[in-house]
Amino acid sequence: MTGITPQPGIMDIALYQSGASHVDGQTNVLKLSANENPLGPSDAAKEAFSRAVHTLNRYPNTDHASLRTAIGEVWNLNPDQIICGVGSDEIIHFLCQAYAGPGDEVIHTEHGFAMYSIAARAAGATPVEVQERDRVTDVDAILAACTPATKLVFIANPNNPTGTMIAPGEVRRLAEGLPEGAILVLDGAYAEYVEAFDAGAALIASRDNVFMTRSFSKIYGLGGLRVGWGYGPQAIIDVLNRIRGPFNLSTAALAAAEAAVRDVAYIEKCRVENARWRDWLASALAEMGVRSDTSTANFVLARFADTAEAEACDAHLRAEGIIVRQVAGYNLPNCLRITVGDESACRRVAHAVGQFKGLR
Ligand SMILES: *Cc1c(COP(=O)(O)O)cnc(C)c1O
Repeated sequence: MTGITPQPGIMDIALYQSGASHVDGQTNVLKLSANENPLGPSDAAKEAFSRAVHTLNRYPNTDHASLRTAIGEVWNLNPDQIICGVGSDEIIHFLCQAYAGPGDEVIHTEHGFAMYSIAARAAGATPVEVQERDRVTDVDAILAACTPATKLVFIANPNNPTGTMIAPGEVRRLAEGLPEGAILVLDGAYAEYVEAFDAGAALIASRDNVFMTRSFSKIYGLGGLRVGWGYGPQAIIDVLNRIRGPFNLSTAALAAAEAAVRDVAYIEKCRVENARWRDWLASALAEMGVRSDTSTANFVLARFADTAEAEACDAHLRAEGIIVRQVAGYNLPNCLRITVGDESACRRVAHAVGQFKGLR
């Protein structure tokens, strides 16, 4: 033994399971396991990415001013209060690194995103899991779980993998009830899928303990590029910027993200398409006896009678070349999370579930 050991908490981190992308022996595979935009990024984003090839010898800028200005203009936010990261994952890590350490508690919900507990443990803090009520964030349960050691409370709104969300009044009640020194983090990875939703921006303007994270990986169709951003009180932004690597985002990523956020018409088209096929898929599944909560995101959480039925349906879908997401790791062993694909994808998955149910 060399005596070389990692910091406390690191070895408690379970490796993140990402959505599978292939099935042995299958060629025509349909990947509906990672909530990716089936339509891809906007043409403007692809063109901006291509143009970046000519300046790859140059370091990227460190202040991300151009991207922050674009985000600020599109979402009507102060660019000074925006920070950009390598996916919103990096922003989540910054928050934990900056505000939570050994002895501190980081709250996440029962069916919350795995990155919250991973980032909390990486910082040496203790993740605290709080029950939801019928797969919906329970504000009273979170407030009851708060202690003087609570430093961060993460909720995704809409939530992944449930697809449910809570109303602005509930979010405000949560922010108002947190103990002193705790920050409410609103993860808005799916915010753009909700029509006319500010993801908490107005609440942030009126409080100093609320922060939001956003992503280019979902509706913007840039998951492969790794860009996210955060918006919050100036004091928190100033702290996070101290631990952000100066060149965390590449020139190509900055350029593509800026073009993507400015292509408002394309995002609106994606939102409308998603809502249409999401609702179609949920109804088709319901007609076959597979229920789901009303989803506000780009996936449907299909509920089966029990774990065995969910696993059997997953196996059938795989045999048909369709990959969806098992969510037993999110305390939902009787469910499968199905990303809303394009029209043909939705029809194909509905047909396969119908076969499984013996209806086709
Ligand atoms: C997909 C997802 C993200 C996005 O993470 P990126 O690092 O931006 O790709 C963040 N939060 C939740 C809840 C998600 O489902």
